[in-house]
Amino acid sequence: MINTLDIEINKASESRLSQVDFDNLPFGKVFADHMLVAKYEDGAWSRASIQPYGDISLSPASSMIHYGQSIFEGLKAFKNENNDVLIFRPEENWKRMNASAIRMCMPEIPKDIFLEGLRQLIDLDRNWVPNNSESALYIRPFLFATDALLGVRPSDTYMFMIITAPVGPYYMKPLHLKIETEYTRAAMGGVGSAKAAGNYGAAMYPAMMAQKEGIDQLIWTDAKEHKYLEEAGTMNMMVVINDTLITPPLKSTILPGITRKSFLELTKEAGFKVEERSITADEVISAVGTGELKELFGVGTAATTAQVEKLTFEGKSYDLPSSEHRVISNQIGQKLLRIKKGIDPDTHEWNMTV
Ligand SMILES: *Cc1c(COP(=O)(O)O)cnc(C)c1O
Repeated sequence: MINTLDIEINKASESRLSQVDFDNLPFGKVFADHMLVAKYEDGAWSRASIQPYGDISLSPASSMIHYGQSIFEGLKAFKNENNDVLIFRPEENWKRMNASAIRMCMPEIPKDIFLEGLRQLIDLDRNWVPNNSESALYIRPFLFATDALLGVRPSDTYMFMIITAPVGPYYMKPLHLKIETEYTRAAMGGVGSAKAAGNYGAAMYPAMMAQKEGIDQLIWTDAKEHKYLEEAGTMNMMVVINDTLITPPLKSTILPGITRKSFLELTKEAGFKVEERSITADEVISAVGTGELKELFGVGTAATTAQVEKLTFEGKSYDLPSSEHRVISNQIGQKLLRIKKGIDPDTHEWNMTV
């Protein structure tokens, strides 16, 4: 990529890298040396800068704090065998961030600030991308309103930032999920398809209630009838009934996952049947009963694929087939991970190499 963006780089005087125990990384608590910052004022973006990672100062009246104009993205970088850093489909995150921005009355981020800013930040902190092939550098771009004004209206000023955090291997035991039929994550016409900060705060209470009963996470259903499956906390849901992969179609209540999109593409290419259609909780439960339900799993950046082995619906719990022998989730999940890590050829040109 040609460097067309002039970024002011203010390097940290000393790296904190040697203080980090890469074998014991708590998720999202350890941050790399630098962060990217760009400000939006008077209808224009300022020159982006890379600065030492650190606290920022804000007015206590910042409208993001009071009215929640705040959106984010999440992606991962891996190191391949040649020590190149590979970032998975960052352009898709840029597009989705701008879709979220439009929905929240926020300014769109110019492509070069997002992508070239990301490239330069990752290049500078490339030693923070773990060498261990099981680990990754988690990347968190975010945009928030900074007007110091208590009036309820879109802010005139914003800050775009990218911070990064090395994260350990994502070993996950199969999950116990509950199909939620009381609380709602997103309603038609709402902001469910935007990665808007408030969606996550609003989902914490129902998730916590379920966790008290030993459930890991919720599968949300539609707000109107609580009949149709939507998605889980930060994952899109996939079901295999007989030999067909089924996932709910995208709409205003579902976050358009980049893992979902990539997973569907690879599944079709591998010759499996794929249906993007509405699916009810009743259909899933009855397929569990007849043995036709073969797989249930979530897909997202964090886990790639998260297997579900137990399902609770209307007070009853159901054991699902063991995740070990599941065909589609294991085969495609592995394939996707191998592309991200540069082990398998990147025939779709999904990776940005730094
Ligand atoms: C981020 C997110 C996903 C997954 O998106 P990916 O791009 O695959 O990481 C799914 N659902 C929700 C609600 C999310 O916030």
